[in-house]
Amino acid sequence: MLKGLNRRSFEEKLAANLRRAVSAFGRVSVTITQGRMFLEPADPDFDFEAAVKKAADVFGVVSASPAWRTATDQDSIAACAETAVRAYITKHPPAMPDGGRYPFKVETKRQNKSYPRTSPEISRETGEYLLSRFPELTVDVNHPQVVVFIEVREYAYVYTDRSEGFGGLPLGTNGKALLLLSGGIDSPVAGFMMAKRGVEVEAVHFYSYPYTSERSKEKVLKLAAILAGYFGRLKVHIVPFTDAQLAVRDNCREEFSTIVMRRLMMFIADAIARQSGSLALVTGESMGQVASQTILGLSATDRATDFPIFRPLIGMDKHEIVEYARRIGTFETSILPYEDCCTVFTPKHPKTKPKLAEVEAEEARIPDLAGLVRAAAEGAESVLVRPD
Ligand code: ATP
Ligand code: MG
Repeated sequence: MLKGLNRRSFEEKLAANLRRAVSAFGRVSVTITQGRMFLEPADPDFDFEAAVKKAADVFGVVSASPAWRTATDQDSIAACAETAVRAYITKHPPAMPDGGRYPFKVETKRQNKSYPRTSPEISRETGEYLLSRFPELTVDVNHPQVVVFIEVREYAYVYTDRSEGFGGLPLGTNGKALLLLSGGIDSPVAGFMMAKRGVEVEAVHFYSYPYTSERSKEKVLKLAAILAGYFGRLKVHIVPFTDAQLAVRDNCREEFSTIVMRRLMMFIADAIARQSGSLALVTGESMGQVASQTILGLSATDRATDFPIFRPLIGMDKHEIVEYARRIGTFETSILPYEDCCTVFTPKHPKTKPKLAEVEAEEARIPDLAGLVRAAAEGAESVLVRPD
């Protein structure tokens, strides 16, 4: 989808990210062409299937397929298609004892328009050849179970499988942002969505020991490890938040504690973002989901930092977020029942329409607020989380 000067550098970034993602499976060479990247294993025992799944999870990839490569003459293409279909049938043995039927079609794309034959001709001839070789095939262009894809370029490529990717942009093409990562369902999804748009993500987690347990911290690190599976790795700054929370509890009116606490999180996140070179903050907030997530609540939070606060879930319903969390694999961990720092100090009736002046007046009651913020930021423990 990209045009102009960016294109080349984005492609190179994607190629590098792909190479890194599949490096655990063996050596590969990566070739960048118009609209496609070719990863060619250099090791005979390369784990092809695992690598294709992994490649599909790399941001910027729309889909990934294990393909056979051959010469562009019809005989070579037909022979290659036969190999591909045989592999498919071996992998998906017929359900019925009589050998079953595989409704199929052939779909051809010609990148090389100077190629002497048209796509429909190649599809038809290859289809006829396959029918003559496999009695278990039957043509069904509307509801095929097997699609034999043929792509004619400098070589011909044949494949039957397609792993859908997430699309997006290559990680590292859009600066860095700091994600406020709780143990909940929303913030891991928010971080994923930003990373999918090419933003390098670091995370900060506010931790209120002993009000929240060691296990709630482990839960967050587990979520970070799942995200690291997509990002390559994820740095998490774990901030001791107890003193700040106690100061809010002891000095501010109860109905303001939620909003003041959220602004304290932003003050601290702001300091950490400056140190880490982040250019924005990211949260999992969604309009109206809880009492503090109103327009006025969110704007009072915005005013706590000069950084933009990105809220990629702002217009999503909970069930949509849950669906997304399931797809990326964070949901099961997010619903484990560990307490979060905010729930420990939640007021019975939080202000839903806090006015900034009132909020600032509450904050002014906290002795040495700046010192509290500095101590929390400096007390952060930074953990570089890698995929499990
Ligand atoms: P989530 O499911 O992400 O926890 P939520 O619906 O529970 O979100 P809140 O608890 O109000 O909503 O938090 C809103 C956002 O504030 C979270 O999405 C997250 O970005 C941030 N946040 C909340 N608690 C923490 C925490 N302990 N550490 C870091 N960020 C937090
Ligand atoms: Mg939460």
